[in-house]
Amino acid sequence: MSKPFSPKPTKYALDGRETDLLHYIYAQDLSALTNNPTNLLSAINTYSTTTNPLMNIGPAKGAYIEELINAQKASLMIELGGYIGYSAIQFGAAMRAHGGKYISLEINPEMAAVANQLISLAGLSDTVSVIVGTAAETLRGLVSSKQVEGVIPMLFLDHWQSVYLSDLKLLEGLGAVGVGSVVLADNVIFPGAPDYLEWVQASCDGKRGLNLKEKEGEKGDAGLVYETHVTEFETQFGKDGVAVTKVVGREAI
Ligand code: SAM
Repeated sequence: MSKPFSPKPTKYALDGRETDLLHYIYAQDLSALTNNPTNLLSAINTYSTTTNPLMNIGPAKGAYIEELINAQKASLMIELGGYIGYSAIQFGAAMRAHGGKYISLEINPEMAAVANQLISLAGLSDTVSVIVGTAAETLRGLVSSKQVEGVIPMLFLDHWQSVYLSDLKLLEGLGAVGVGSVVLADNVIFPGAPDYLEWVQASCDGKRGLNLKEKEGEKGDAGLVYETHVTEFETQFGKDGVAVTKVVGREAI
């Protein structure tokens, strides 16, 4: 079913830097970038540091998450918030190394188009798919169509912090986050996601209490037992953190 459309809605307006990045990339020596995720990421970093800053994961947090991917060797990783595809290229390449797949969800079709172009240039189209839409709507569709079955082994939250908690609870409720899932969340210190951190750091009783206070919205699955560790990083904006949450069990409710 089609949705209401209004031309150039303000909330999606871009200042052009993401498409400018494509012009920058295609002005480089393409033989060095084609099918070479490392060189392509390095070219994107150069653009971001010399021309226009981009909201990519960045080298330090990126390397940290890549190590977790290499240790976990999950069959599937789903990212909420793809932007121009930087993390999808870095983490998709790491997933491909052990035969895993990567799905990147992005609300903005212009960003998704840039991401798809760069993912294709990196030679990762066989491993990484980009789906346009709100993460919540797309995730519901992936689960109901059984394109995603059982629990998502690795989930990466990197969209807007205001919906981290509701999207996590949605997946808990659908049974797509459960025992065995590892959930990573960026920017939990800056800009910060206090309600999300409160939930993933709470005991099951604590989560039941939080749900009682919350009259509306997703209830999630308070019975999931979480172990959460926040690793801090110095970034250009100051201190930030990545939360790693392992679902280690389930208490009967
Ligand atoms: N993961 C990317 C990287 O490190 O290269 C950066 C993602 S950027 C911080 C956040 C992205 O989330 C933006 O491109 C934005 O359009 C997208 N976004 C925001 N809300 C969303 C939602 N509800 N569903 C899907 N994408 C969303």
